[in-house]
Amino acid sequence: MESHLTPLQPDQKFCFNCSPQVKCFNNCCQDLNQVLMPYDILRLKNHLKLTSSGFLEKYTITCIGSETGLPIISLKPAPGKEKLCPFVAPRGCLVYPARPSSCRAYPLARALSRSRESGLLTEHFALIKESHCKGFSKGQTWTVKHWIKSQDLELDFKINDLLMEIISLKNQFIAGELGTKEEYLFRLALYDIDQFRYHIQKKGVSVDSKIKAQKLHPIKTDDIDDIQLLIFAHQWVKKELFKH
Ligand code: SF4
Ligand code: SF4
Repeated sequence: MESHLTPLQPDQKFCFNCSPQVKCFNNCCQDLNQVLMPYDILRLKNHLKLTSSGFLEKYTITCIGSETGLPIISLKPAPGKEKLCPFVAPRGCLVYPARPSSCRAYPLARALSRSRESGLLTEHFALIKESHCKGFSKGQTWTVKHWIKSQDLELDFKINDLLMEIISLKNQFIAGELGTKEEYLFRLALYDIDQFRYHIQKKGVSVDSKIKAQKLHPIKTDDIDDIQLLIFAHQWVKKELFKH
């Protein structure tokens, strides 16, 4: 499969249309290599009415990233050589309202860079053109900004960027893979959010007094939603595992 990336500015335009009428409908949901971000898992497990542990067990595989040394969670393809997404059906994506951020963003790719001087993050976009995708031949004209809004990606990017910060910290301060306990805690906090909530409520997962009591109180009293808990979980990982 041929693929070509063209950098785009936020106000630059591109033409794209994806619908059940395109000849290639569902072609992009096979040969699966779908990494899941923490917010992807949260949204999918809620959509499927599963616990985070149940979702992870049924639908995902884990490996350790060769560059980051951190656990990477991916969707487990359905059995068969086509490596279909477990959520694709002839009528389309069965989890469309909760599909992962990379599915929403396609055909855009987004990357972040950090200035060494100021530490400021800059986002970069590129158009992914793959030989199997016929969505570019005709259709609506979009700017990058409009596409992001139409796909409801703002919150995805905000939460995904928190993980990018953690990866950057990890690369600065810890070489290679995490220890067994750190790897368990990393996965628990960022990917197994229901268990993380349970551990804080029942077992007291915090071992560092820098996590202030007033932040833990709403979690202990169940007065915090999953999204706020996930944002807290990123802060917790930064403090507990990377002392930042
Ligand atoms: S290959 Fe492109 S046009 Fe075809 S279904 Fe996938 S995203 Fe849509
Ligand atoms: S989650 Fe939906 S859109 Fe994404 S690969 Fe699977 S079926 Fe396709």
